[in-house]
Amino acid sequence: MSKRDYYDILGVSKSSSADEIKKAYRKLAIKYHPDKNPNDKSAEDKFKEAAEAYEVLSNPEKKQRYDHYGHAGVGSSAASGGGYGGGGMNMEDIFSQFGDIFGGGGGSPFESFFGGQQQSRGGRRVAKGSNLRIKVKLTLEEIANGAEKKIKVNKQVTCKTCEGSGAKDRNSVSTCSTCGGSGAVRRVTNTILGQMQTSSTCPTCNGSGSQITNKCNSCHGEGTVRGEETISINIPAGVSDGMQLSMSGKGNAGPNGGIPGDLIILIEEIPHETLKREGNNIVYDLHLSIIDAALGLSAEVPTIDGKAKIKIEPGTQSGKLLRLKGKGIPEINSYQRGDEIIHVNIWTPKALSSEERELLEKLRSSPNFKPQPGKNDKSFFEKMKEYFE
Ligand SMILES: [Zn+2]
Ligand SMILES: [Zn+2]
Repeated sequence: MSKRDYYDILGVSKSSSADEIKKAYRKLAIKYHPDKNPNDKSAEDKFKEAAEAYEVLSNPEKKQRYDHYGHAGVGSSAASGGGYGGGGMNMEDIFSQFGDIFGGGGGSPFESFFGGQQQSRGGRRVAKGSNLRIKVKLTLEEIANGAEKKIKVNKQVTCKTCEGSGAKDRNSVSTCSTCGGSGAVRRVTNTILGQMQTSSTCPTCNGSGSQITNKCNSCHGEGTVRGEETISINIPAGVSDGMQLSMSGKGNAGPNGGIPGDLIILIEEIPHETLKREGNNIVYDLHLSIIDAALGLSAEVPTIDGKAKIKIEPGTQSGKLLRLKGKGIPEINSYQRGDEIIHVNIWTPKALSSEERELLEKLRSSPNFKPQPGKNDKSFFEKMKEYFE
């Protein structure tokens, strides 16, 4: 299998600065982070691929070798000093690298990591911001067509003063004295099988490996402050009431330069005045006078795309269902679309003038006005079943 070009993977050029390379990798690492893409093999591959590319391009010496000799220049033999094999990095390595990537504050004490220290289990972890939940109300028309909503949300945003590090300046970050920068503390316990060594996240630095000696005045060392962000949300056509969409990385900023949480969008459907939703079909109750039903007419009915004309045949019975194909809600992530079903109701006059009464009295005895239901007429439930099952 031939390897992709490291510059292409990160979307940077040979002349990109170290900072640009770091930024590009940070974006990809957030996008393909396994926490956000559970059980997604292709995301995991991309995550690993980006980590490997960054591992080389962020190291001036390796970058130079790569620029001259390509992948051969940074193969397994070249990486022998470190814990990386030539065939890519394992997840432990990648997460360890995050202490540097997301640690913020240029004075990270972990720059030496690329020199090849092996990270132990339960090593440095990056704090993740909490998820943010918002409700978005949509009309049936918006649901049918998809919608772009710009929503102002109040949330924790990265502190501009310290760029999320929480430290007053470069010199205010030091290696955690409890764990010595590894982010993990080891405990040795005696068991029947001998000594067992367990490792857990360092309680002093919460696994970041660093301590802030002088806190940023704006955020008091948190790395985040309360702020506002206008987020543009693309809602696909076909969503339904109660559905949750998630936008990765759009939640609260992570403390001390950590990974931001996700934005969870709860969909709420605003009921339509005349159209009712039944799965992906739309149901409309059409009321016709006895006269119109008997004589037939061209009627106008509302649909989610505006008005539509339908033909009512002379002699149309109450309860008849008519179908407007494709005038329903699209199925989410599909080209399929539901129908609009028109339920015909014949309106019986409730009050009559003496003149109207006289006219109807004349018709009462006419054999055509005597109900003549067919033996094989389908019941209402049978008809509904045909449409919805
Ligand atoms: Zn520590
Ligand atoms: Zn700050």
